[in-house]
Amino acid sequence: MKKEYAKMDAGLLHLVNKKVVLKLINHNKQISRSALAKKSGLTPPSIARIVDELIQIDGLVESLGVGDSSGGRPPMIVKFKNEKNCIIGIDLGATYIRGCLVDLNANFISEIQVPTELEKGFASIVDKVVKVIRKLQKRKDPNAKIWGVGIGVAGLVNSETGIIESSPDFGWSNIDLRKELEKYLDLPFFYDNSTRLMALGELKMSGKEGQRNFTFINIGYGIASGIVVEGNLLKGFSGFAGEFGHISVDTDSDVRCKCGMYGCLEALASGHRIASLGKEILKNKGSELLEELCMGNQDLITAELVAKAAKDGDAACLKIYDEVAEYLCKGIGNISNLLNPETVYIGGGISLSGDLLFNLIEAKRDKYLLSANVKVKISPSTYGDQATTIGAVSLILEKILNLELSGTKSSDMTIV
Ligand SMILES: [Zn+2]
Repeated sequence: MKKEYAKMDAGLLHLVNKKVVLKLINHNKQISRSALAKKSGLTPPSIARIVDELIQIDGLVESLGVGDSSGGRPPMIVKFKNEKNCIIGIDLGATYIRGCLVDLNANFISEIQVPTELEKGFASIVDKVVKVIRKLQKRKDPNAKIWGVGIGVAGLVNSETGIIESSPDFGWSNIDLRKELEKYLDLPFFYDNSTRLMALGELKMSGKEGQRNFTFINIGYGIASGIVVEGNLLKGFSGFAGEFGHISVDTDSDVRCKCGMYGCLEALASGHRIASLGKEILKNKGSELLEELCMGNQDLITAELVAKAAKDGDAACLKIYDEVAEYLCKGIGNISNLLNPETVYIGGGISLSGDLLFNLIEAKRDKYLLSANVKVKISPSTYGDQATTIGAVSLILEKILNLELSGTKSSDMTIV
């Protein structure tokens, strides 16, 4: 019995050491086996065994041969084999389905964007996602391997089971999208909420290694957040932490949120709210410019169109953004005073209105912040409209670096 435990411990220790070595190789563009031994504290024979495994079995590392010697034995150089290994990231949004194919250094090889066309229903959306993935598969080097597909979806997504428990944008509840996609594609699929993936991408891919405390706010047709505390993405008891859109910012409000409560931030400051206030203005003949931009058709009024009119100096549309910025600052004040983040990133469709929103927020923010928190930076997301796909890629990359996908599925061939 004792012997078995010793065996298990040795196996576990080897895995831990292997992860350390893989991360060191990934972190350094090129590194010698002797430098790996020095940095990891492992013996040269252990390094040799682990590196050989990573080259021959996992296929994640390649040898560059013998490097220049400064007198002693010439160093054996290895590097992360990023070009022959790929990841697919998918942003399954209510307006667009975006897909990207990247190598292991997150260099973009290809990108595709197609309209979601929600009204065509679930089967059509599954078909579109399958087609996007198949197109991306065709654009990789024929000898490259696809390690996995990360998918970000708006709504309550159980990242363990991959079940989309509820997605109001899609009108879905308890959807097993993984099971559907596996009918057509032989690839490992992993899911998470799109906003949490935006935060994960910011944490893992932006190169700002020192940032350990920040909040990512996604303002689109809804509002959500991904919260990073001490370098970890906050999950919460049931995995649904970050429902920032449902904090109350006006207890007297008669605007009802889709969650059933009144005065939620999402009800008062989302893209949906901006568009509906724009429609009211049109109804009351409050803006000639907006009327001209939408050609009198209220169905064409979007948050983007209201932003365009506001940027062109339309007073009524500017007032909408001023009101929205005020509510957002209340929310940012609440979350900053609670968590003391270094930065609050703002992403999602509404953040793409640029200076208009950020200048208004900059002017209003400090009145809601305690003096200890006025230093908080409020910045646009690093990746703009690619934030979810980059986050989806980082979800898979993390699993590769933790050797969770090694030996699971080696084939990325289409079976149907
Ligand atoms: Zn709500």
